[in-house]
Order: sequence, then structure tokens, then C-alpha cells
Amino acid sequence: MKIANKTVTATQLVKDALEKAKHFEEYNIFTFLNEEGALRKAAEIDAKIAKGEKVGKLAGVPYAFKDNFLSPEGPTTASSKILSPLVSPITATAIKKLEAEGAIMIGRTNMDSFAHGSSTENSYFGPTLNSADKTRVAGGSSGGSAVAVALDIVEFATGTDTGGSIRQPASFNGIYGLKPTYGTISRYGVVAMASSTDCIGFFTKTPDDMDLLMSITAGQDANDLTTLPDYYETSEIKEVKKVGIIKEFDNDSVSSELKSALNKKVDQLKKQGYEIVELSMPALKYALAVYYIIVPAEIASNLSRYDGIRYGYRSDNITDLESIYTSSRNEGFMDENKRRIMIGNFVLSSGFYDAYYLKAQKARTLIIKEYEEAFKKCDVILTPVAPNQAFKLGEKINDPVSMYLEDVMSVPINLAGLPGLTIPAGTGENGLPTGLQLIGPRRSDKTLINFAKELA
Ligand code: GLN
Repeated sequence: MKIANKTVTATQLVKDALEKAKHFEEYNIFTFLNEEGALRKAAEIDAKIAKGEKVGKLAGVPYAFKDNFLSPEGPTTASSKILSPLVSPITATAIKKLEAEGAIMIGRTNMDSFAHGSSTENSYFGPTLNSADKTRVAGGSSGGSAVAVALDIVEFATGTDTGGSIRQPASFNGIYGLKPTYGTISRYGVVAMASSTDCIGFFTKTPDDMDLLMSITAGQDANDLTTLPDYYETSEIKEVKKVGIIKEFDNDSVSSELKSALNKKVDQLKKQGYEIVELSMPALKYALAVYYIIVPAEIASNLSRYDGIRYGYRSDNITDLESIYTSSRNEGFMDENKRRIMIGNFVLSSGFYDAYYLKAQKARTLIIKEYEEAFKKCDVILTPVAPNQAFKLGEKINDPVSMYLEDVMSVPINLAGLPGLTIPAGTGENGLPTGLQLIGPRRSDKTLINFAKELA
């Protein structure tokens, strides 16, 4: 490690990262730059090293976190107006674990407000630009984190993935992005979107870095009862022999660049001696509809706590108790947040619960079973992350359904709780990055990361 070997100081690394962050200001990557705090921590680490004291595995490594992670360093806004004045008294468990190993947060990253979106255009602070083409979207909702890593500002960044928000921006920017098995990393201290699919994960430039971050952050947390006992460190790496590809994902909505990236990877795998298994997974065609019923239902419930009273933004247009709620929520949420609150309350309402919410839960079970069957035939599944590469800024933002359709290949695994790892798959002829995802059974995260190393 360069820092422990004294070839570079933590202070120098942090200064460089902050300088780069400023250099790339026009990309609108950060909602907050942690200059003072980061330099102070770097000085502490340098002092420890000078005294010969032990430092952690990430000592002095500059990183960024998505602005839906709570910590007292800077305001946690989730890129929304309604949370804008909030400085949190608590720190997310994942952040505590990273910082206990010496990682230094240099900034909070831009995102779609409350993580609702696939482009980072739904941010109250404006869109983040794609690292390879400034006229295109960063992907979303963790767009700022992806671009911060892709432009080499930080070594790694955190994200959240409820329906693709780590994997899709990773693929739009040509880096690695992992959505772990549901329950692997504690979500305590992270702004909730949809509690039955929300996962915390990372953006990195190598599979090795992903492995290290997982070993540091995975594990049970008394503050998050959905966390699994730590399986990551002790899980066995399964040798991958059979790679599944999904027949139904080979259709006209998938762009030629993505088809060719997948075909190239399949050819490479065949040459390397892997067996390719074609899977038919007909229930996956319900996944997008199921996701956009269940997730808004959970969003409507999770966002009900922002009432203009307990924390965050309160409107000035107040005449009575009722208008505290209505004006604060109306002015504080963005259109996409409101759309989801309305859809969610609709599908949960007494006349429609059976027809939508309950039906969707049954279809979710079919999807889970379909993956279980698939993993009897193969060890991992390889698919694109999204049907297209990064699209143009403004292209889909006024057409929510076309934006939702971008999620068709990323949301199924969230419904099933499975891990998915985006791997870079080169650039298309148009110069834009393409990414593919490796999907495995629950708790196969280490196998996926190891397989990515073999393919790198
Ligand atoms: N794009 C998806 C959505 O808008 C996923 C978002 C996410 O994973 N946070 O719901």
C-alpha cells in the first residue's frame, strides 16, 4: 500500500482527489465537497503513520458516497428539496465500516431524487453528465457515484440499487458496479426507497477492489433486521462452468451495440471453454410491471414520513395543519416522486389492492421460482444491464414510460433478491461504453466477483 509505505501521503491523495473534483465541475457530480473534513482526516492518518501506528485497509483512500447515505458530514439531501436542510446526527453503518478502515469521503454524489430514475436527471440539483459524452446521461439513479469513479476522481464510490441504480450507471460509464444479494450490507442510515428490494453496493475500477469492499462492509447489523449473517468472507467460490443467456432478452428493443457486446462476450466464453446454456424465462416479461407496482407501493409508504414537521423542508405557504403537509410535500418533492406516491397509494387502495398489489406479489413469486429453475441449469447468467447505452440528456425525461422501459433487464433480480455485477464490455463503434451483468444465486457474490476477475 502506497500510503503505509510512505511513497505518498493521505493528504496528497485527498488534495489530488479534491482538485480533480473541481476540474470536472461541469459534470455536476457532487452535491457537497468535503474539503475541510477530508483534509482533517487525511492529516490524522498521516500523523498515525508517522508515529508508526497501525492504519486500516483503506487508509487514506479517497471515496465518495451517494447522497442518500446519512452522516453528519454535509447535508444528506437524497438530491431532493424536501431533505435539503437536513444534516443527519447519525452515520450509516456501511459508512462507519468504510471509515473505520481509514477511507476518506471527499464528496456526496448527485442522484435522481430519492433514487427514483434511470438517468440522474430527476435530481433537484440538475443532471450529472456522462463520463464519455457530455451530451448524454450518466445513468441512474447513482449517476454521480458512477461518473466520479469513471473519471478517476475517487477510487470507489457507494451506491444503492433498488432496480438497477448501481448496475446501469456502471454500464453507462464503463466500470464495475455490484448489487449484492439482498440483505448483505446493512441499510441502516440510508434513505429508504423500496424496502423489499433496496441494496447497498459499490462502483469500482477492478473486481479486486469490489472484493475488498465487500469483505469490509458485509454482515449482520442489529440496526437492520433484514441483514444476513456474514456469509461473504466464508463463502466458497464456485467454479463457473455453465453460463446462461436468456432467450427472451434477445429481441428488437435491444440495441445492436448491446447485442454485439453480448455476442462478443459469449464467443470469448466459448473459446475459453465455458458451456453456454440458452435459458427460456417467460415470467421475466412480467418483471417490469411487477416492479412498477410493488416499488411505488413501498415508496408511497416510505415517503409518508416527510411531512414538513419532523425534519427537512417546511413550506412558507402555511395556513393550517393540513397545509403544512400538503404545501411542504407539494413543493419539496419532484414530479417523479409524486408520480410514484400516487401510483403506490392507488395500487394499495382497497378497491385495487387485489387486482394490482396482490397480483404483483404472486407474479414476483413466479419470477423467484424461475431463477431457481434457471440456476439448476447454469452457474451464472449473463445479460445486458439495459437495452441501450447512455441516451441523450432530455431524450426520455418527459416520457416516464420510455424511461421505465430502460429498467426492463435490471429490475428482475431485485425482485428475486439476487446479486448482479456489472462488468465493462468495451466501447461500441459509437465510442460509448457498454456493460453486461453477471447474475448468480443468492449469496454467490464472491463467485461473481471471482468470475469477473477471470473475464477481465
Ligand atoms: N430506475 C429504477 C427506478 O427508477 C431503479 C432505481 C433504483 O435502483 N434506485 O425505479
